[in-house]
Amino acid sequence: MSKLRFHAIKQSLKRKPKFIEETQRRSSLFGTNVFNDKAMLQALTKDTYKSVKGAINKGKKINRVTADQIALAMKEWALSKGVTHYTHWFQPLTGATAEKHDAFFETINEGIAIERFAGNQLVQQEPDASSFPHGGIRNTFEARGYTAWDPTSPAFIYGKTLCIPTVFVSYTGEALDYKTPLLRALNAIDGASVNVAKYFDKNVRKVNASLGWEQEYFLIDSALVASRPDIVFAGRTLLGHSPAKGQQLDDHYFGSIPNRAMAFMRDLELESLLLAIPVKTRHNEVAPNQFELAPIYEEANLAVDHNSLLMDIMDKVAERHNFKVLFHEKPFAGVNGSGKHNNWSLSTDTGVNLLAPGTTPMSNLQFLTFFINTIKAVYDNEELLRASIASASNDYRLGANEAPPAIISIFIGEQLTKVLKELETVTKGKLSPQEKTDLKLNVVGKIPEILLDNTDRNRTSPFAFTGNKFEFRAVGSSANCAKPMTVLNSIVAKQLIDFKSEVDALINKKDLKKDEAIFNILREYIKESKNILFEGNGYGEDWQKEAKKRGLSNNRTTPKALKARVSKQTIDLYTSLGVMNEKEINARYEIDIEEYTKHVQIEGRVLGDLAKNHVIPTAVKYQNILIENVRGLKDIYGAQFKAIAKEQMDLIQDISKRIELINSGVNAMVEERKKANKVIDNEKRATFYCEKVKPYFDEIRYHCDKLELMVDDEIWPLTKYRELLFTK
Ligand code: ADP
Ligand code: MG
Repeated sequence: MSKLRFHAIKQSLKRKPKFIEETQRRSSLFGTNVFNDKAMLQALTKDTYKSVKGAINKGKKINRVTADQIALAMKEWALSKGVTHYTHWFQPLTGATAEKHDAFFETINEGIAIERFAGNQLVQQEPDASSFPHGGIRNTFEARGYTAWDPTSPAFIYGKTLCIPTVFVSYTGEALDYKTPLLRALNAIDGASVNVAKYFDKNVRKVNASLGWEQEYFLIDSALVASRPDIVFAGRTLLGHSPAKGQQLDDHYFGSIPNRAMAFMRDLELESLLLAIPVKTRHNEVAPNQFELAPIYEEANLAVDHNSLLMDIMDKVAERHNFKVLFHEKPFAGVNGSGKHNNWSLSTDTGVNLLAPGTTPMSNLQFLTFFINTIKAVYDNEELLRASIASASNDYRLGANEAPPAIISIFIGEQLTKVLKELETVTKGKLSPQEKTDLKLNVVGKIPEILLDNTDRNRTSPFAFTGNKFEFRAVGSSANCAKPMTVLNSIVAKQLIDFKSEVDALINKKDLKKDEAIFNILREYIKESKNILFEGNGYGEDWQKEAKKRGLSNNRTTPKALKARVSKQTIDLYTSLGVMNEKEINARYEIDIEEYTKHVQIEGRVLGDLAKNHVIPTAVKYQNILIENVRGLKDIYGAQFKAIAKEQMDLIQDISKRIELINSGVNAMVEERKKANKVIDNEKRATFYCEKVKPYFDEIRYHCDKLELMVDDEIWPLTKYRELLFTK
């Protein structure tokens, strides 16, 4: 066994769980490191507090004096907790989080040092940060990037730093981050939903989109990870034969959580609670060493921030427990990948979940309105929704037998399917008011049952209605939720705006009653968008064919999927809602397409290195042992040796064949990479990498994995799947 592999395994086997004591109730820890309502009430004057709330709830501007007061209060609060630095915390287009710390400490006159934090430092900063991807936005004439305070996501203390959530925009106002478009999309869905919700209740003033994400991840011992260059550089294994026992027995799923993982989770949960991330659920996932964590759902912007923050905390806490968290969507071939289900719903300031079937017919029509409009929005924008979750890493998961396919469809369950069928077919032609009333009562009267029975969940669907929310399951575990949330909220906002104008037009033109007009439009929507509804097995071959017949897209790779991001339809959508202008849309496309190329490029390099510098030399070493053995047999048996040494000689030949195939495969891949790098156009280069470079990965891997089975375990250099996945 190579030294590295041997020491890694030895080290990981020696580790003990590091449980920290829980001495307080979790509820008493919740949010203690957040400048939340309670902290603000304590630290701010009534008027200042009111200004902040006005900014949070109604987007009102905060004046200079108030900003100074808030900054002062924040500083005092932070200093009282031993904080030394502050940072504007933002999410650049890398998808990760960014921070640049400044000390409160300042010298004013010679020899006088104080802690200072003023309103302007709270409200706006210019972190330079010119090395973040910007897709050309900052090349033009003004290279400056600014961060600006987002009061809707409260400031928090992490370590010894006060973190202030901010947006990141260019001097010319274009968004350089994921948060800005998300906030605009949330604003759009708020406005559009309020206008429609007012059909049913005049008192609705605000609608919030909620998000509850479920984070899946692998926990692997850090020493074992360090022994695998592919995990270190690509976040996943590029080689490795499946272990004799994998997940076939389903004995990990919901099983008792291993001690070391449990100690990590407890630590992680306590850290999260201090930051008001309402972590609630934890369990083992399907694959060995795979787990899931889910919080209680929150307002979408906050939930997105909390997910990004959590991923960061996970990395740090894992370090303390000698683990590495793998967020990659498919770290191990042949083993379940990881996703991040995005549970989404809309709720009013009057306390109503617009996607929950109510108890009275009126509120049921409201439910049907939002339910059917969402279906229509997804149908009309299925390619954009697919594009929102596209990444090099998620490509390995989507459609890989245990994850939703690259085809977007909606599962709504048997009962709602029946309801929609009835709504669609009961009335042919024009609707008489009498018929309509009967129908409405009849149909909607059934809906409450749905709430009680949402057991027939279809795990193979990428987008499923689960009782009182939609669950977007195709989102990848490493994704920043802002992307899918921006798309989903934008498309539904646009749809609701169109719906409202169609209903109003019908009321005016045909003198229809409001309910009747709503019903008429909804019925048309059901007809138009029913092709997106699918209740069957999304993993099956049949669905691929059926989906094609229905005209649904099946964009299996990221370069293909991303095209929808810059289609005319998308540009119209975003510009009409004010979510992004054309420059911002194109910039994100350029960044993502380039990121794809870089990912495949890096993987290609690492694979080439592993194959040529680890696998082939080891195979040669083993082959030499066999050759020695055959020579010895010849010495002993003379002419008879051929029969006796037959197996060894076959092995020697087989190894030579594999070495040749690996070597020629790597050489050919390198040649294709060289060609790819000469392609100037970003999109064409990504496609080249996807179609010409990537296919070599599987081919090279196949022979390397065969060698892993042949070669003496004692000298195999790379830590094996069984060691990575089953060390506890
Ligand atoms: P699953 O069976 O998929 O694990 P759960 O019922 O445990 O589903 O819920 C998963 C996630 O959905 C949790 O994060 C939860 O907070 C969230 N969730 C529940 N209700 C809503 C809702 N109305 N809107 C958004 N998210 C929700
Ligand atoms: Mg789920």
